[in-house]
Amino acid sequence: MSQLFIDGKWESAEDGQTRAVINPFDGSELAQVAEAAEADSRRAIEAARRAFDHGTWPRTPAAERGALLDRVADLLLRDKETLAHSETLDTGKTLGESRADVDDVIRVFRYYAALADKNPGRIVDTGSPTAVSRIVYEPVGVCGLITPWNYPLLQASWKLAPALAAGNTMVIKPSELTPLTTIALVGLLAEAGVPEGVVNLVLGAGPVAGAPLADSPLVDLVSFTGGLVTGRQIMIAAAGNVKKVALELGGKNPNIVFADADLETAVDQALNAVFLHAGQVCSAGARLLVQDTVYDGFVAAVAERADRIRLGSGLVAGTESGPLISAAHREKIEGYVSSALAEGARLLAGGRRPAEPELADGFFYRPTVFADCRRSMRVVREETFGPILTAECFHTEREAVELGNDTDYGLAGAVWTSDGDRAQRVAAALRHGTVWINDYHPYLPQAEWGGFKQSGIGRELGPAGLDEYREAKHVYQNTDPRPLGLFAG
Ligand code: NAD
Repeated sequence: MSQLFIDGKWESAEDGQTRAVINPFDGSELAQVAEAAEADSRRAIEAARRAFDHGTWPRTPAAERGALLDRVADLLLRDKETLAHSETLDTGKTLGESRADVDDVIRVFRYYAALADKNPGRIVDTGSPTAVSRIVYEPVGVCGLITPWNYPLLQASWKLAPALAAGNTMVIKPSELTPLTTIALVGLLAEAGVPEGVVNLVLGAGPVAGAPLADSPLVDLVSFTGGLVTGRQIMIAAAGNVKKVALELGGKNPNIVFADADLETAVDQALNAVFLHAGQVCSAGARLLVQDTVYDGFVAAVAERADRIRLGSGLVAGTESGPLISAAHREKIEGYVSSALAEGARLLAGGRRPAEPELADGFFYRPTVFADCRRSMRVVREETFGPILTAECFHTEREAVELGNDTDYGLAGAVWTSDGDRAQRVAAALRHGTVWINDYHPYLPQAEWGGFKQSGIGRELGPAGLDEYREAKHVYQNTDPRPLGLFAG
């Protein structure tokens, strides 16, 4: 049972504790993994601290760090099928989605491999012939990386690849629900030659194994992806030593459809927007806003197709959607459905568990569509993180933007229209970190990802995703130093 990785060695938890990892498709046990106590996390942090203060990695040429990331990408390609299979067992998503995730993870490692040595700093014009000045970038130090259960491998790569490229050392803690592919990824990093102590892995409950990454004075930066409530706790804990904080939190993302859009495509993509991975996507287009003249027909078409979504095992060809991650999460979704009904939303599809006996042991829930929703409803205001679509109606462009921005979150949104000027106006007016025009969900390793408002702080991916893990230092030299004589006495 040695899946903690501390100072280059695989270890069990000090007190021997383990946890069962559950397959959400049928509730069966997939594996027993080590369950770290707080002391294990503190040991991992100390190892990362030593590796940063005394090790070679922060001083390794950036091009060499990049070359190592490229080797990791090669190993990921070699193990793609095993990793995808494991991700599907652990999360319930379809194998097709897991394969796409691994491809994306490879792209992320290749992107930061290439970026590692591209922007070492810059020369600053001092305005003086006797002074030279430059900005250099240095690693932040020890990083605590905390990831969620919906995209375990992908979210780990968004943090590990830039943190390594910049020369940091780190401790990563994946979600206790889905640790399997992160364990495998850390194995690949070790195989690729990451020096001892540079990457450390702890597994276990957030408040026990994860909390030290946010509150330890030995950690310089904490990067967290997860829910809003946990994000606030991380921020408070990080205040102790004023560590740098990066947060990728939830979203309540508007998917805005104008009457002049290609409606057939927009219906199809509205399903993709919200029901991908059973709605357990931070950027899920769970809030459909449709222009009044096409509203009834559009929403009916979405509901009719939602009713036909095939649920099943992610490993079986033809499955379109898997289960929710856990029994507790399904109960939360059922609570949102009850609240929507109580507040007067009209149920058009789903709203129940599937009837098929072969799905009875898993945590399945039918794709659900509600019409007649209003922005005051709880199901519209809060992130459900499940297969629930709420539809609201708007009249004018101004009203669409106003509704789309009426949320505490600001992660992502989309606009569907054939009017190019309108598309640009709406994209400019939406207060969300990503806006798609006539599309939903694509993201690129080379484009920044992150949230406005309560969807987070900072950016992952793109050049800014590397800068999160670097400190800018100003080095100024006077080439002709002389006394100033300001204090003549
Ligand atoms: P969560 O907040 O429950 O847990 C996330 C991680 O934090 C887990 O590893 C958990 O163990 C850990 N954790 C929990 N309490 C902690 C504490 N006190 N100290 C330190 N660590 C702690 O979130 P989740 O349920 O795993 O993930 C779902 C959430 O993640 C959703 O809100 C979703 O929107 C968000 N998410 C956001 C993005 C994004 O890019 N913005 C991407 C994926 C998921």
